[in-house]
Amino acid sequence: METVAPFIEVIDEIKEAGGEVFNLCFQCGLCDAVCPWNKVRPFSMRKIIREATFGLTEIDGEDIWRCTTCGKCTQQCPRGVKQIEIGVSLRRVASEYEVFPASVRSARTARASLISEGNPLQGERKKRADWAKDLSVKTYTEGMEALYFVGCYLSYDPRMKKVATATANILNKAGVKFGILGDKESCCGESIRKTGSEEVFKNLAKENIKTFIDNGVRKIIVSSPHCYHTFKNEYPEFMVNFEVVYISQYILELINEGRLELTGEFAKKVTYHDPCYLGRHNDIYDEPREALKKIPGLELVEMTDSRKNSLCCGGGGGRIWMDTPKEDRFSDLRLEQANEVGAQVLVTSCPYCITNFEESRLNLEYEDILEIKDITEIVNDML
Ligand code: SF4
Ligand code: SF4
Repeated sequence: METVAPFIEVIDEIKEAGGEVFNLCFQCGLCDAVCPWNKVRPFSMRKIIREATFGLTEIDGEDIWRCTTCGKCTQQCPRGVKQIEIGVSLRRVASEYEVFPASVRSARTARASLISEGNPLQGERKKRADWAKDLSVKTYTEGMEALYFVGCYLSYDPRMKKVATATANILNKAGVKFGILGDKESCCGESIRKTGSEEVFKNLAKENIKTFIDNGVRKIIVSSPHCYHTFKNEYPEFMVNFEVVYISQYILELINEGRLELTGEFAKKVTYHDPCYLGRHNDIYDEPREALKKIPGLELVEMTDSRKNSLCCGGGGGRIWMDTPKEDRFSDLRLEQANEVGAQVLVTSCPYCITNFEESRLNLEYEDILEIKDITEIVNDML
């Protein structure tokens, strides 16, 4: 009797989220072969899909919360099964029944903070622009060249505020007429949607869209691949289309147009980590590398898993808010890969990646051998 309710609901939810393509799965197991979880512990997306097909998913278990939505299995599946959408729809059912395993409960705290303050970090809304207090950063007004959408981690997290500061400096140095929305900016909603909280996502998206329209925003510069992804690919569900530019793309543009001149030297061996939501989900592989190559003295080397095979940091799909035991962290493996190619700096362009990498740097005691940097931090040092 216990499986009857999930039986109907799971199947209906999946149909709504991803059509009936999950029926196409022929259990080849290719998804499991490429999934980063299987580098640290056994996990089977193939099994989740099999069970979901019959409505037999254990919605109170840990497994439906593991997927980081990295997109690796999606690009490999020979049948076009939408694994991420299936996983998210299962989380929707679990959220509806309010059944969460212990490791996921911290994501509920993030959700409550998103509802009350518009960010997942329990920061007060009115303090959202405090990072910019002593900098020359204006409030966005219609007619400016671009809106800089800062994002939650860069607004509140002490490590990531340095990236916001570097970004503002770069834009100012290049003479870009830009502004921020301050406490009128809300989380883009990308990650909370992936945890199954669809209503919270919709409310955040609607708030942002209204603010963009009210303020005459046309072009948006973003620092997070998650903001980029959702503005570009998910906000159009609300019948709007804004021009979205990723900061590393924009930096390259500014350099090529002669608006930004790099004068210093960065004589270090650097490796670039492709964030899942920039690379696999949005095909942006070249511009960050091209921007890095413009930095005098910088030597760029590639890790084993790069570009479309990039190893996920473990932070997508809301996992950034969930508890992951030390031995299960993919970010540790990524730092080892960076070390293997002799990199002195692991550079990336995503707040979740940087947060996870900084933690792994401490776990692995790599403080003396590897630095973690956002592209903007290196560029800013060269101005
Ligand atoms: S790769 Fe696709 S077809 Fe193969 S088991 Fe996974 S979901 Fe099914
Ligand atoms: S999206 Fe990534 S983490 Fe999720 S099942 Fe596929 S390969 Fe694994």
